[in-house]
Amino acid sequence: MTASFATTSRADCLALDTQDALAPLRDEFALPEGIVYLDGNSLGVLPKATPARLARVIEHEWGHDLIRSWNTAGWIDMAQRVGDKIAPLIGAGVGEVIAADSTSINLYKVLETAVHLQAGAKTRRCIVSERSNFPTDLYIADSVARAHGMTLKLVDVDALDANLDHEVAVLMLTHVNYRTGRLLDMATITRAAHAAGALVVWDLAHSAGAMPLDLTGADADFAVGCGYKYLNGGPGAPAFVWAHPRHTDHMETTGLAQPLSGWLGHAAPFAFTPDYQPAAGIQRFVCGTPPVLSMAALEVGLDVFAKAEPLGGLKALRRKSSALATLFIERVETGCDGHGLSLVTPREPATRGSQVAFACEHGHAVMQALIHHGVIGDCRAGDPSRAMVAESADLLRFGFTPLYTRFVDVWDAADQLSKVLGSGEWRDPRFAARAAVT
Ligand SMILES: *Cc1c(COP(=O)(O)O)cnc(C)c1O
Repeated sequence: MTASFATTSRADCLALDTQDALAPLRDEFALPEGIVYLDGNSLGVLPKATPARLARVIEHEWGHDLIRSWNTAGWIDMAQRVGDKIAPLIGAGVGEVIAADSTSINLYKVLETAVHLQAGAKTRRCIVSERSNFPTDLYIADSVARAHGMTLKLVDVDALDANLDHEVAVLMLTHVNYRTGRLLDMATITRAAHAAGALVVWDLAHSAGAMPLDLTGADADFAVGCGYKYLNGGPGAPAFVWAHPRHTDHMETTGLAQPLSGWLGHAAPFAFTPDYQPAAGIQRFVCGTPPVLSMAALEVGLDVFAKAEPLGGLKALRRKSSALATLFIERVETGCDGHGLSLVTPREPATRGSQVAFACEHGHAVMQALIHHGVIGDCRAGDPSRAMVAESADLLRFGFTPLYTRFVDVWDAADQLSKVLGSGEWRDPRFAARAAVT
């Protein structure tokens, strides 16, 4: 695909869509008429097959077969079955991933486990993360650190190397930053952390489903990720958790359990024994009963990736998402010149995820006006205490889900943004109100 889009016309975009081998995948999704949806990095779109699947689970499996469905409809195997559909998306082996709980809860489970694995190393008294990591990751890490009399050390991601020393037990990072879209080099950072004796936990919330990932190749230790973003599992979809088999093997030999030792992570839940015996492998990271309806919806979202496989799979999706983001950056910089937007996402496609953010002084109102015109992105509040404009202003954030976003959508979104800024329409007081969720 072309590297520069500065002079691309709307007709050129329509032509790119015609040539796009992935274009038929858009038909798998129920996209509302007249909407350009650029927020799939926050809540993915409804797959067309999901309502019928949920209706079947509700009416037949639950409604008719009732409790028998734990066996007959395979509800009891869902955590593993859905995990096995996530595994190829993240470079994990079959049987190494489970779908369960939320990202926050899975982070707690793997961070606690990683800290326990490092318990013998008495100098290792801190968990290190990136200052601008997603808040829930930092809150959970802080809580784990405090429970062990350790500290959570927040560093600038560019100063990671200098901070990886004999005091670090665990390095916890999000692969793609939720605000800037910056993509970290998983293999290089994991190698550096291991050289310093630290274990590494990767949060794949903003990368799973948007690009090929290789946890095994990077030799990572643990990973978690989100089911409702690029995996299109629906609001509150189960998250996932992966542990390198060397850790689950070690846990098996030493009897180490993850901290939320619930009955469905037991080796024999239906033996109902009073003592806890963890299940083999990753299954030990299951806690309680899976949310069957949400699991079913997530499974439908994952099945779309199987349909993408013959069309080039994640590699092709990544190529398209890079091109969509480049097109957007260039169209916005051409069309919104003079309106004070500044790009905070890396310009180099290899160092960014599938989202683009611009710092914009009245970003919240601008985004509300844009949404009013049917272009849905979102806004993340800036940090007013920071000196740099890029950190203090609101961020206009746009996600480019290559499964269903067209080149013409991107062209129209940039065009609409330029109109909203050019007309000053965003100054209308009705765009100033802030809802609970931004
Ligand atoms: C979306 C996201 C989460 C979500 O956590 P929940 O437990 O599902 O609320 C966590 N971490 C990161 C980095 C995210 O982007």
